[in-house]
Amino acid sequence: MYNIAIIGGGPAGYTAAEVAHQAGWKVVLFEKDTIGGTCLNVGCIPTKTLLYSAKQYHNARNAQKYGVTAENVSFDYLKMQQRKQKVVRKLVAGIRQRLQGCDLVNADAKVVERTDNKIIIEADGTRYEAGQLLICTGSVNFTPPIPGLKDNPFVWDSTDALSAKELPKSILIVGGGVIGMEFATLYAELGIPVTVVEAMPRILPQLDEDCVNLLIEKNRKQGITILTATKVLKAEENTLVVEEQNEEKITQTLSADRILVCVGRRANLQGLEALGDLHIERGAVKVNDFMQTNLPNVYAAGDVTGKVMLAHVAARQAEVAVGRMLKQIPLQRIAYNAIPSVVYTNPEIASVGLTVPQLEEFYREMEGEETFLKKGGAEAFFQVKQLPMTYSGRYVAENEGETGLCKLILDRRNQTILGVHCIGNPASEFIAAASFAVRMGYTLGEFRQVIFPHPTVSEILKEVVNG
Ligand code: NAD
Repeated sequence: MYNIAIIGGGPAGYTAAEVAHQAGWKVVLFEKDTIGGTCLNVGCIPTKTLLYSAKQYHNARNAQKYGVTAENVSFDYLKMQQRKQKVVRKLVAGIRQRLQGCDLVNADAKVVERTDNKIIIEADGTRYEAGQLLICTGSVNFTPPIPGLKDNPFVWDSTDALSAKELPKSILIVGGGVIGMEFATLYAELGIPVTVVEAMPRILPQLDEDCVNLLIEKNRKQGITILTATKVLKAEENTLVVEEQNEEKITQTLSADRILVCVGRRANLQGLEALGDLHIERGAVKVNDFMQTNLPNVYAAGDVTGKVMLAHVAARQAEVAVGRMLKQIPLQRIAYNAIPSVVYTNPEIASVGLTVPQLEEFYREMEGEETFLKKGGAEAFFQVKQLPMTYSGRYVAENEGETGLCKLILDRRNQTILGVHCIGNPASEFIAAASFAVRMGYTLGEFRQVIFPHPTVSEILKEVVNG
């Protein structure tokens, strides 16, 4: 009998296994595919590896900006793919190493029975018993019910795009979200004509609008065509019929070598059918702040909870879930207000905490529309401080011709830092400092006391704070 059974070996599952094992628990972890899950095998790591190759090519072609002459620059996509596989293999081996001491079962697991003190799981014809279950089954690519998309050989999802041995000659990307814009960057930097079709009025609708506008400007210069407020009506082979979402409802036909669909992911509930009483909300496993489901010995972490589909959130959720099972004191909760996120476009957009529209909505609701306006509107509640990234010397040295933006949002009452939103390279690397400030509830005065190394791009945070 195991103390804990974990279904799914992605960032949530392998983190939970490691934490539980370190605490002395007997752990069984089921993974039907390769350990590492979507993130390591067909998500974050392979995309970032290919994006890095594309950036090297792009930088070499544009090296003259830095006084370097590089002639006849070319690339070999197959070699880029081979390197990507090498990186993935290395990291998967690293995870396996960390899981020594846990029983890994490389098979499709299915819950067959549950009582309040026992869970029975079946995998590859064998039954396994555990006291607690942690569901980490992740998410799967979603294909919208648009006629002609399903079973169309010209249509890819992100997994198909990552594994393709050859580059498409041109690509239509449906969905201008995180995955869509990262693939748009990859293909555009390798010289492939890209068109993005987004249903909403703007791409990356959850992110700071000023940052996104700067990205759009850059994307246009890179030759990426972005069609917003545009709905896909149907697909026929390599062609899409799309309709503008305005009064005229103009339709047009777009064609490309391949169509890549990236319109979100859905929780994967496979293998959980026997847990008939498990509460499911909006297609995902419903959990409380400690990742507990409605069933006493069943927890869930990661994409399957449908909360925030990010690998680093999944890992933190897993730590919280196991901490709760182990009855650790003090009890931990996840600081959902301080989750950093990065879109690996070029330039990168990185952010943490609340955005201006989220804060406006929050205060309008809290105060009521009339009081909100009487008090002076958004300005009365929070303050926005922002500077171009060029206020950092290192940024200027390394980002010829780029402007960037760093925006900080403060609570007017107590000068607490509520959110930070940046566009500029390498925002992904210094957003952690801002996350720390938001997580710890730092005020402007407290953040001013932090010493940033010089010259680094991270100093932009200090400049904005002092500005
Ligand atoms: P997403 O929700 O980020 O974006 C989907 C986009 O598709 C939205 O902008 C939506 O308006 C648009 N859309 C939906 N239906 C459409 C239609 N019929 N036609 C045109 N546009 C349509 O989803 P995603 O980009 O697929 O990413 C899935 C998940 O993976 C997200 O939760 C994302 O955060 C995560 N992810 C994160 C990273 C990262 O952190 N760098 C990278 C990749 C994926």
